[in-house]
Amino acid sequence: MNAAEIESLGQALTDAGLQIVPWEEKADLYIINGCAVTAQAAAKTRQLARRIKREHPSSLLALVGCYSTAEPQEALACGADLVLNNLAKDDLVELLLHSGLIPRAPRDTEGECAEEVYPPVADKASQSARREISATHASVGLASETHTRALLKIQDGCNSRCSYCIIPTLRGRERSKPLSEIRSAVITLRDRGYQEIVLTGIHLSRWGHDFTPSLTLTDLLQTLLGIDHLPRIRLSSTELSDLDEGLIAVLASHAAAICPHLHIPLQSGSDSILKKMKRRYNSEQFKNAIELINKYIPKAFIGLDVIAGFPTETDSEFMETKNFIANLNVSKLHCFTYSMRKGTVAASMQQIPKQIKKERTNELLELSNIKYIEFIKNNLGNALSLLPERFDIENKIAFGHTENYLEVNVETENKLENIFYEIIITETKNAKVFGKFKV
Ligand code: SF4
Repeated sequence: MNAAEIESLGQALTDAGLQIVPWEEKADLYIINGCAVTAQAAAKTRQLARRIKREHPSSLLALVGCYSTAEPQEALACGADLVLNNLAKDDLVELLLHSGLIPRAPRDTEGECAEEVYPPVADKASQSARREISATHASVGLASETHTRALLKIQDGCNSRCSYCIIPTLRGRERSKPLSEIRSAVITLRDRGYQEIVLTGIHLSRWGHDFTPSLTLTDLLQTLLGIDHLPRIRLSSTELSDLDEGLIAVLASHAAAICPHLHIPLQSGSDSILKKMKRRYNSEQFKNAIELINKYIPKAFIGLDVIAGFPTETDSEFMETKNFIANLNVSKLHCFTYSMRKGTVAASMQQIPKQIKKERTNELLELSNIKYIEFIKNNLGNALSLLPERFDIENKIAFGHTENYLEVNVETENKLENIFYEIIITETKNAKVFGKFKV
């Protein structure tokens, strides 16, 4: 989601005539879309901000996003010249342009602050108006210079209140980008040459629920399927509660157009912990949904988010999670060590010692490796469609992702074009996947 937003910003800056330079090159303006979902993420944002100001004191630093929303004063203390919260960040480029801050003459005073020109955080009175702007402001993102994959943000905010999560406080209630705008954005990206579009959102699968009459993600996908030469579509994540048979049926019957790739937050396999997390499903419902996907989309990549060391989690509750996942036919885990967020219900629960959280995370990572190797083995001999993303000139190897999210290495004499190649998965070595062109 943050990546989609930063790409949108990058595109807006490019459209305004600015040049995006590689990280190693010095820039006049640095933008950090800082995450605050965990305490570690916030600490990383602070570290990066301080490093930029130390290494490039005469450059302008803008801090935007969840970190700036949660900790605006800390953001300023890190040396940021401009701090914009989630409700105001879509206006960043406009603010910079109208102020003359970009392009701009070198400043006289090192560290001169732009917050005198712009209030660092949107005041409360303007927040609802800002929210309306943000709701429809998701813009087309630019993924890379090769126009391989674009991230398109179509939804923001969340109406749920999971006990460990600060996102609803930072991003507000659900807002969806209108169907017609998404359709136009997809056509624009197709015309720019993108071969794959990843639809992103905080609660992506709730897209359209805030409309009157409401729409669903299935409605959106069916509309997009009507676009000529539609780039490959990938969903960034799907909550189990929204994963109905209609959505699975669309994915199953259009596997060439919509990637058979589902990323589903599980968080815990223990019903008592799920209840404390205030998740809207139990383990039985989760298992049934995974079995339905296995049945209708057998080659789908299924990734799960799991949290290790949620407050009060006992050894036996953690074992329940491990056993539950071990018995599911899924492809990989995205393991998070629980990290306390001020302002959440879980922050006041009894916390688990650091060492135990670490050990549980490592156990989940091991389980993830087992699952992933199984998934790769199940794909050996399969014909899949590869979109090349990188090329190692020295070793003459191209890397790219298949529709079911395998990162595959293919030997090739020449750099591949930005098109799909039919390949066969041939072998796996050290968790790397190799393939060859289908003849
Ligand atoms: S569904 Fe839960 S975890 Fe996801 S953004 Fe909403 S509150 Fe956070």
